[in-house]
Amino acid sequence: MMGKRIRAIAVLVCALGCSGLALADAPNAVDDLLHESLAKVRSTPETASAPLAKLQALRDSFTPEQNHRYHAIYGKYLGWQGRHEERIELAQSIIGQVTKPSTRASLLYDLVDGNRALGHYESALQAMNESILLLPSIENTGSKLLVLNGAVSLLTTLRAYDEALVFAERMIALDTSKAGTRTLCFGLGNKIELNFKLGNGELAQSLVPRALQACDASKDHMMTLIVKTFAAIDLVDSGQHAKGIAASLPLVQQFQTVGTGSNWLAAVEEALARAYLKTGDMDRAEYFGTQAYQRAQSAKDLDWQEKTSETMAAVKRARGQLAAAIGYYEINLALKKKAFDDQQQKSLAYQRVKFETQDKANQMALLEQKNKTLNIETALQKGKYQNLVLLLTLGLVALTILGASFARTLRQKNRFRKSAQIDGLTQVSNRAHFTESAQKAFNDKNSVVSLILFDMDFFKKINDTYGHATGDWVLKTVCHTVKRRLPKDAILGRMGGEEFAVCLPTFSEDEARAVAQRCRTAIAAVDSRHSGFNFQMTASFGIATRFANGTLSFEEALAAADKALYFSKNEGRNRVTVYQHSDAFRP
Ligand code: GH3
Ligand code: MG
Ligand code: MG
Repeated sequence: MMGKRIRAIAVLVCALGCSGLALADAPNAVDDLLHESLAKVRSTPETASAPLAKLQALRDSFTPEQNHRYHAIYGKYLGWQGRHEERIELAQSIIGQVTKPSTRASLLYDLVDGNRALGHYESALQAMNESILLLPSIENTGSKLLVLNGAVSLLTTLRAYDEALVFAERMIALDTSKAGTRTLCFGLGNKIELNFKLGNGELAQSLVPRALQACDASKDHMMTLIVKTFAAIDLVDSGQHAKGIAASLPLVQQFQTVGTGSNWLAAVEEALARAYLKTGDMDRAEYFGTQAYQRAQSAKDLDWQEKTSETMAAVKRARGQLAAAIGYYEINLALKKKAFDDQQQKSLAYQRVKFETQDKANQMALLEQKNKTLNIETALQKGKYQNLVLLLTLGLVALTILGASFARTLRQKNRFRKSAQIDGLTQVSNRAHFTESAQKAFNDKNSVVSLILFDMDFFKKINDTYGHATGDWVLKTVCHTVKRRLPKDAILGRMGGEEFAVCLPTFSEDEARAVAQRCRTAIAAVDSRHSGFNFQMTASFGIATRFANGTLSFEEALAAADKALYFSKNEGRNRVTVYQHSDAFRP
């Protein structure tokens, strides 16, 4: 919830910086002004109104191309001002005429982000789908980043965290094609936020140093602060109150000097209030709690009002001011109801506009959310609500109803989480879960780790000749066969289609090659007649190793293994290739 608005600002900075809206030559006054507007909207939007007004006066002399650029820049300016209706109207009025992919992407971003801000989730999802389809035809990395950021931001708002994560990974992957550290900064920043939201605090924390380094290098100072905020709040959430306070206090100051990002400030203050409450410093708890609550109110942010009113209720209760506590609880329960209605809306929109990459994890998240809603509604029924007030007056913790509901949700979450991690057909880890587990192995810098990637050969032909069911049988059988040849700590995952990956913690290059050869031979030796047909099946393998104290990241290793795999394909398939860091391959 905290990501919402501020991300929009951070994205905005990037959006304009990287969307490739012609920073190049400026042959006339209009181009000069466009250039100036872009720079200003990007760095100091409050100073952009002057050049934009001048442009407005010159509109009759615009070339079509200039007109498109003007619309894209002005849309970002309107977004910064929160004038989303106008922003959407502006983008819609022109997008039909725009063919250049990067400019189209920029206008679609206005539709994604504007509709998201207004809660028009279906329209936002539709624009997102369209912008994602543009990705292959966009050359400019900045524009790609813009598209991906729009998608991550929207999916995060819809609480489709697993899907958002897929796009965050794609952002990070852009970096290997030497796009610079900005893509890495945003990709990692998003990945950290999403992992915190998914409850993977450890993984998220482990990414923080790298993200800070990337954001420092690309001078995305706002993102640096945001990443620090995630880390500080996580300290409080995980019970490390003193550390959390120490990390949060400087952030309060820094956000104040930046001037923007009041929601982030509210987030830090809210965490401080809870930390001080736990350490018994009631004055400070109340001070920061009140600040956060007022900030959330003036920002009209539903999620934050809900969260801060709950914290204030707890503070007031701890101080023995029961009437005030009840007041905040009443506000809190009403907001909870509103927030869950809002979430229902999101779920509905999401279901109606199913993006093709939607996977099980999301269905689960929606189901879970529905259950939560039901529980809250029950709590709001009059009888129980009275009960709650009564308990509170007696000075007892009002956790009964909500607590039970949360416990149930947590239990369900664990049950759902497991099934959301497994690929339904092959029963091995799905891509998201494999990535998460393999990342962990890569985090241990002192240890060597190897990655095997393999892809079935001519699989399409098997499907086409013997039918899809036989294809499915092959995939299941291959996983079964490979699993039995893997060492105990190995992680096997389905990366998509007929492509699989194995992560081998502590395995050297040579050891990994031996494992891959064993699996390759076993696959080639499978007796296909059990499927009812007789055919040969084989797979091609690629291997990459991150040596102890090596610098290769998981994503880089995956890309390297992929290169090696394609070398195997080109060399005639049914073979193993080890990626050589010099870019030469060794069969
Ligand atoms: P190559 O050796 O170069 O990898 O060729 P290929 O035919 O194996 O690769 P290609 O990517 O052309 O085809 C992969 C096919 O896998 C296409 C797709 O329809 C099929 N496929 C993807 N997922 C599944 C699945 O879950 N079940 C079945 N039966 N087929 C699938
Ligand atoms: Mg294949
Ligand atoms: Mg393939």
